[in-house]
Amino acid sequence: MGKEASADGVTGGEQISIGDYQRRPGMTATLTPPPETAAPAADERCDRCNASGKLRIVLAGGSELVFCGHHANRYAEDLVKITVDYSTEPDFDWRGSEMITKN
Ligand SMILES: [Zn+2]
Repeated sequence: MGKEASADGVTGGEQISIGDYQRRPGMTATLTPPPETAAPAADERCDRCNASGKLRIVLAGGSELVFCGHHANRYAEDLVKITVDYSTEPDFDWRGSEMITKN
């Protein structure tokens, strides 16, 4: 009796109906933007002295350093070589900001 009833045919791909299915924007939680480098907080102190921090730099390894205005400018030449990101107090004009290329 070997008659094959071939109800064959390629099962045409899956049907996706998005007619009345509302996608909500921003449901992808996988893409998290990198945290912004924030200016030093009021209670953060210079790495070299005890003055209040004016500049925060982020090093290649991800560690951070905070310097007061005096030391930030004093070490500017060296700091720009190791800085991958930085942020300054709004009223502080860091000498290194002219030497560094910030993406
Ligand atoms: Zn200092």
